[in-house]
Amino acid sequence: MTGQLLIKNGRVIDPANNLDTKCDVLITDEKVAEVGQINGHVEKSASRVIDATGKLVTPGLIDMHVHFREPGDEEEETIASGSTAAVAAGFTSVVCMPNTNPAIESETDVEYVHRKGRQTRKTHVYVMGAITKKREGVELAEMGLMAEAGARGFTDDGHGVQNPAVMLRALKYAKMFDVVIAQHCQDNNFAADGVMNAGYYSTILGLPGIDALAEEAMLWRDIQLVKKTQVRYHAQHISTAGSVELIRQAKKDSLPVTCEVTPHHLLLTEERCSEYDTNYKVNPPLRSQKDVEALKQAISEGLVDALASDHAPHLQSEKELEFLAAPFGIASLECVLGLYVKALIGPKILDWPGLIRLMTVNPAKIIGIDKGTLSRGKQGDVTIIDPEAQWQIDVSKFISKSRNCPYHGWTVKGKVEKTIVGGEVRFEAH
Ligand SMILES: [Zn+2]
Ligand SMILES: [Zn+2]
Repeated sequence: MTGQLLIKNGRVIDPANNLDTKCDVLITDEKVAEVGQINGHVEKSASRVIDATGKLVTPGLIDMHVHFREPGDEEEETIASGSTAAVAAGFTSVVCMPNTNPAIESETDVEYVHRKGRQTRKTHVYVMGAITKKREGVELAEMGLMAEAGARGFTDDGHGVQNPAVMLRALKYAKMFDVVIAQHCQDNNFAADGVMNAGYYSTILGLPGIDALAEEAMLWRDIQLVKKTQVRYHAQHISTAGSVELIRQAKKDSLPVTCEVTPHHLLLTEERCSEYDTNYKVNPPLRSQKDVEALKQAISEGLVDALASDHAPHLQSEKELEFLAAPFGIASLECVLGLYVKALIGPKILDWPGLIRLMTVNPAKIIGIDKGTLSRGKQGDVTIIDPEAQWQIDVSKFISKSRNCPYHGWTVKGKVEKTIVGGEVRFEAH
């Protein structure tokens, strides 16, 4: 018996129920009991009452793409540090990627991540399993056993599955478990040893480039495989105008294809690499302004299903290496909401309900979890946001163990006030 938690007078946004209205939310015994005008005697008996006047009350945010580096690189991030950072950023559920060391490729590995998440008691921690053993792209991993253990999908993230026959086998196999196959779309023949977008800037900087075709060729190929198998497929972090066109056509053809974007592909371009600052080295690379505009257009048309962070923490000592040698990745988990507000709400590409949809019910559907809405009886996962609060991103205040974040010093709007997981307040801003 955990009692009752009453959240009063907030602007309650629940896109799954097309709800956007000023009202109250009552959570009883870890579950949503009521959304509406809740009378005074409930208030008296509630174990806690939160006044959310002027705040947004939304389903708990879901980030379907994070790297928590455990097992193997615990000095960069752990499931404990990552999920503590996540809850402070408004997330009640996250999905860890399997490119750990060793990779998540067995039932035991999946259970290990779940156990660590439960022990931390911050966000719900989910995980995707690897498609292939050691993410080598050759032999399929134990997808069936991992799915039974609760893996929320499969990906070799960090690499795309290069061999089309292996990818076809993975899709056919996944069909038996109704789990999504997610892909880091990148054809290594085009990407080679590239470190940034191929184009004018890579030429003048003398750095090897990753052509947009590396992403588009694999996405095109995978869409042909989806046509053949009709298996749910998710394109991770799409970054080019060409990819947008491929997604547009796939959706027109009613294929079970979804996609996500990241904040960096909406807010930064390849020009940022000009100072050889490795905080801008990310994979897929920062692209051109034309690509950024295409992604924003895609979001405004409803072609993008989910907003993720692709939070990829790295040690400072590694990021201090020269541009060619430094690892790819941006750590952005703790500022991701503010970044999306800046990228999408500021320029009126999305309104608040539109943004919340892409960070709650949509990713929940893709990964197949019964969350992302405030419908009665659902688990009491709620995020309370101050939409007007401005704040400055300061990496020295990150809970995450890593600081490889190019947004240090940026001013953003939209601040997480409280994060409630299963009816329990697990984060409060002070
Ligand atoms: Zn990736
Ligand atoms: Zn990733």
